[in-house]
Amino acid sequence: MIDRKRCVTTLPITPVGRPNLGVVLAPFLADVFSKKLEIDNILALNLNGLKFSNENYEDRVSGYLSALRGLDIVPSCTWKDNEEENIPWINIIFNKLREENYISKELKSIIRCKCGAVESLTEAENISPSRALYASDKNRRYCKLCKTELREFHEFVYLFKPPAALMPREIFPYFYAKEMEAICFKFNHCKFLISRSRPSAFSLAFKDEEIFLDVDFVWQMFLPLLRRRGYKPEILIGGNKNLMACYFSIIMSQIVDQEDVFLVIPPYYLGPRRTSLKDEQYLSENLLSGYDSKSLRLLLATALNWRKKESIVDFELMNFISKMSYRIHSKKKTTNSANALVDLDGARIKNLLVQFKKTRDVFYSEELCGLI
Ligand SMILES: [Zn+2]
Repeated sequence: MIDRKRCVTTLPITPVGRPNLGVVLAPFLADVFSKKLEIDNILALNLNGLKFSNENYEDRVSGYLSALRGLDIVPSCTWKDNEEENIPWINIIFNKLREENYISKELKSIIRCKCGAVESLTEAENISPSRALYASDKNRRYCKLCKTELREFHEFVYLFKPPAALMPREIFPYFYAKEMEAICFKFNHCKFLISRSRPSAFSLAFKDEEIFLDVDFVWQMFLPLLRRRGYKPEILIGGNKNLMACYFSIIMSQIVDQEDVFLVIPPYYLGPRRTSLKDEQYLSENLLSGYDSKSLRLLLATALNWRKKESIVDFELMNFISKMSYRIHSKKKTTNSANALVDLDGARIKNLLVQFKKTRDVFYSEELCGLI
């Protein structure tokens, strides 16, 4: 793998057709890093999970991409987990993991509902992501979606065991390193169920059998898959609600390719009343349709607070930003990832804007390189 293109990538995102500002933050940051460091910008999307939903996912993708264009974000490449060309590579990676004993086939006890939304190891119920999908009622456990009772089966399944003591080496902000350590400690002796019985899963055909894989397990191979498309991922923009997925993606990168990436975890954006930005949908949509991309990018940047897990977007700043953004320009600056982060500080950017406001001059700022 020589001459690969350096890039920054988002963690695979499930696109929404009408995204709020919080959902565009990761692609925005990927775009900023790509412009600051002059490397490619990958938007990774996760669509396999939507395969059987009633919605047309092409509409979701086009809606999402057009919202990104409204913020002047045009990725160098949009990687999708359901693309045909991933399949042979997933096959090769799966075999490699099996040969190296990270993946095993074992006879296990499984609990499952009729629709297959709930499917986990009986012994690992407490760590299974499908736990939220079922409820208990007088010792009966039933699926919230299909309402059928969970039944126990004994069958051969595929399990993934992450290696002990491997964890992401470079994380920003640094306080997430402790949480990553805790995840690593909690899970490094667990085996995870990665095969599924339902057809909505990802099908992998071998000579002697067809294996249905959990779609989340498949997209968590995306860093090795990007390398096989000729990219060299250097920065991964994750999310603090997706730490487990960040952990698994980086572990996968380390065991398949022995390569690490710099994990950046942006704050979770909230609306003015400290509510989720989902509740500010209307406001966000008005912003996306009512203001130019430069003003919107500056607004997003003013909320970047890396000392906290959550940041409040101050929509009231929009008024003064939009009145002067036409005379603010960025100047080219040569930098590296660490220095790029120093410039990406909401409080500093807000101060800069206040200084600009005091005069009527046109400004060229190196600190805003890549931001606007
Ligand atoms: Zn069900």
